[in-house]
Amino acid sequence: MMIPTIPTPDELLDKGFRRGKKAADLARTSKIPRHLKSKRIEETRVITACQVIKDRIKMILDRVPNIETLPEFYQDYIDITVGVDDMKKALGALNWSYGIITQLEKDYSSRIRRSSPEKASTLQKQAYGRIASVVNKIKKDLDFLDFAKANLRNMPTIDFEATTIVIAGFPNVGKSTLLRQITDATPEVANYPFTTKGIQIGHLERNWKKIQIIDTPGLLDRPILDMNEIELNAMVALEHLADAIFFIIDVSETCGFSIESQFNLSYEIKRIFDVPMVYLFNKIDIADVNKDTNDKSKFESDESESDISYLSSYLEETDDYLFISAYEGKGIEDIISKLSSVRKIERNKNEDMEFY
Ligand code: GDP
Repeated sequence: MMIPTIPTPDELLDKGFRRGKKAADLARTSKIPRHLKSKRIEETRVITACQVIKDRIKMILDRVPNIETLPEFYQDYIDITVGVDDMKKALGALNWSYGIITQLEKDYSSRIRRSSPEKASTLQKQAYGRIASVVNKIKKDLDFLDFAKANLRNMPTIDFEATTIVIAGFPNVGKSTLLRQITDATPEVANYPFTTKGIQIGHLERNWKKIQIIDTPGLLDRPILDMNEIELNAMVALEHLADAIFFIIDVSETCGFSIESQFNLSYEIKRIFDVPMVYLFNKIDIADVNKDTNDKSKFESDESESDISYLSSYLEETDDYLFISAYEGKGIEDIISKLSSVRKIERNKNEDMEFY
């Protein structure tokens, strides 16, 4: 999100008043009748200061995108990270100060023009006092925008044209290993609220279809009941993006979570995301899956259509699953064809989408 550098009130005033003085000095050298000169100098000083301060404020207002025109994901992101209402309030205050300074500029330049030469300097000082008071009134708004700038830097770059797959599963089940295996380059790492490791986005293209894969370490990897409201919101923001969830289950349980609790997490996530879920049973290279039958030969025979009697008791009405080893690259081609068969969900787009 492009928020330009935000000045403090002092910086804003210093710049305005310094430029006002320069312009006044220049006016001092001009060839105008003496009785008009002092008035011209003070008027120039006020107008220049106002212009410089207004330009800076306008630049900020122009550069910050209108939040309502952003895709919902970004609106949610901004809301979770800094608060959309606070953002609007701060921008509103800047807009207000712009209007007041415009008014002061008009009032005082005409008052100086109509005043006696002796009074011009007093009026200029009065104008500066009022400008300073207006700018100081937006201190907390400037502070907020500076905070927002810091917090909204490195927002994830989402490709809204691409089909989007969100990866979920407990920590250490192999999510990032998989992401590295199936995507082209090193995934982009961007900030994401309430995740320490950020969000990772990988891209791949199949038959001219763009696919974007998102992993959110620290978010879709623990029981939803443990989440606070803000974390829940951070998760729900992803709902605007996901066309499918690829849920990774570590069948070796070396991640430290039982298959049962892994499935339970998948059910929770399924309830929140109303999109198709594909199960990827990972780490088959070290797994002892057929606990019931104790027959490992089926895995070792390289036939992925193995006996899943043990796992199938967990699979609610779905047969959308693959056996893989992210580490050994087993089943990667199957995943990619699965990925390319995911249908993009047409959501209500903002009218201003072409802006992106
Ligand atoms: P994440 O926390 O879900 O992103 O998990 P990682 O991708 O970081 O993987 C956690 C650990 O499991 C790492 O040591 C990986 O090397 C290992 N791992 C991932 N996939 C496989 C697999 O298919 N087989 C085996 N044996 N280990 C794997």
